Amino acid sequence: MAENIVWHDHKVTRAERASIKNQKPCLLWFTGLSGSGKSTIANALDVALYQRGYHTFLLDGDNVRHGLCRDLGFSDEDRVENIRRIGEISKLFADAGLIVLSAFISPFASDRRMVRNLFPEGEFIEVYLDTPLETCEARDPKGLYEKARQGEIRHFTGIDSPYEAPSHPEVRLDTSVMSVDACVESLITYMVFRELITR
Ligand code: ADP
Repeated sequence: MAENIVWHDHKVTRAERASIKNQKPCLLWFTGLSGSGKSTIANALDVALYQRGYHTFLLDGDNVRHGLCRDLGFSDEDRVENIRRIGEISKLFADAGLIVLSAFISPFASDRRMVRNLFPEGEFIEVYLDTPLETCEARDPKGLYEKARQGEIRHFTGIDSPYEAPSHPEVRLDTSVMSVDACVESLITYMVFRELITR
């Protein structure tokens, strides 16, 4: 642990950086089982926000697991460290004034709480993809459930590794009964209601 680091006082605040773009920084944290629709909905919301003129950034397994977290696996310990790093990166992007969308299974409530605690009240929006396991498994977009059932993948969330459902998510979406457009619509409505965006 480095002890001699002196934090410089930033002259430009995060609010000032964000005000250049007429937006409020925040983090939308998508959590849910594999195949529940996190990437699909986060990407669709990303497009919708871009079309409205907002500056966003999307973090997901593809751009994080191959770089920042490529040294980490899927043990409980590595999952905790994975989420810690993603939380810190999300915070830096929010400090830069951006609307951040992060899509990770993030199965442990304590990890999600750790990320929530990095953000001011109201700027961490937990979006729980509450899609039933049966639907996720039937979709199996990456063939991972099949492999997990056959024991080829161990510690797979929902099969032989737990998922702790959020008790008080800001937004709950079940993509077995809601279309992609309907999910995006409800997220936009929520963001307008919370005055994170205006249009
Ligand atoms: P995750 O990121 O949670 O692992 P993905 O978004 O990668 O999930 O996969 C969800 C799959 O379900 C995709 O293949 C998507 O096309 C499909 N799907 C079907 N209906 C919906 C819906 N209403 N919302 C989101 N995804 C849906």
